[in-house]
Amino acid sequence: MPFRSGFVCILGRPNAGKSTLLNALVGEKLAIISPKPQTTRNRIQGVVHVPARKGRGGGQIVLIDTPGVHKPDSSLGRKMMVEIREALEGCDLVLVIMDVTHRFDPRDQFALDLLKHAGAKAFLILNKVDLIREKAKLLPMIEEYRNLYDFAEVIPISALKRNGLDDLLDAIISLLPAGPAYFPEDQITDQPARFMAAEIVREQVLLNTSEEIPYATTVMVDNFEEGKRLTRIAATIYCEREGQKGILVGKGGQMLKKIGTAARVQIERMLGTKVFLELYVKTEPGWRDSRRFVEELDWRRQLEQRMHEQQAEASRGLDEDSDEADRKND
Ligand code: GDP
Ligand code: MG
Repeated sequence: MPFRSGFVCILGRPNAGKSTLLNALVGEKLAIISPKPQTTRNRIQGVVHVPARKGRGGGQIVLIDTPGVHKPDSSLGRKMMVEIREALEGCDLVLVIMDVTHRFDPRDQFALDLLKHAGAKAFLILNKVDLIREKAKLLPMIEEYRNLYDFAEVIPISALKRNGLDDLLDAIISLLPAGPAYFPEDQITDQPARFMAAEIVREQVLLNTSEEIPYATTVMVDNFEEGKRLTRIAATIYCEREGQKGILVGKGGQMLKKIGTAARVQIERMLGTKVFLELYVKTEPGWRDSRRFVEELDWRRQLEQRMHEQQAEASRGLDEDSDEADRKND
């Protein structure tokens, strides 16, 4: 039986449970989760190593979690939609996640439109079935959705309770083409630890604040020094207004302390070292509408840029060697 592998994109409206599904299938917390829409802002890759079992060979699924499909109204929102389109490019299968506790709405339609445009094979995943008491209620829903797209499979699951996930994995593996493992067994994500630390801080902001603040904040790691026993991290929480900053810092710094302590514990678990976490809060009015600022948050772009800079520096170094004589005249 052949080893199968491929890229599988998770698509759906905000809050459908996409990131919960990614984490459940990979078995590690790669994506942050919150009850607030637009928690996920980047595409997040997670690798699932699936052992062979009776009736089928093993395989490797490269899952790509995406931001929720929505009509963007800022540079940040537009960037999130670009992340979705890039994730859809060239994937072997799309998992369209619907939340069974919500009616089909324009955002679900928007997700289907993106899928149609990509023309990919797709499964319909009906999530949060743990919240539906009468499972018979799912049947008309399945009928309705089947008319909207030619789904290869319809699979009800609970990402939260991890129900139906084995069936889902089996179905994914059987659909993927025979192919090699793209990643070694011990690799489960391409996200740098530095970025994951920023996300863990942002998750605590999302969980501890309300109204505009979750949407108006972002986190950047300014310093990340990983040692054998201790990792030193300095990060800045950016918000848009002084009032928000006041809330994020809290009376006598209490809120910032709460966010910092909770985040530190999680980062320690992720890194397996003690962590010294320093947090700062700054206002950056209108950052969501600043293309430059939003691009700075993109770690893939940051890595690329750093690589280009290093290459430029290396070639400058070569030039300098050959210009040695000239410089002496300076
Ligand atoms: P995303 O925006 O699609 O990535 O959604 P998240 O994974 O961040 O989940 C949004 C919310 O739905 C969180 O509060 C999750 O705990 C919750 N959730 C996700 N999957 C399930 C599920 O299967 N059952 C229930 N009851 N809640 C879920
Ligand atoms: Mg998400």
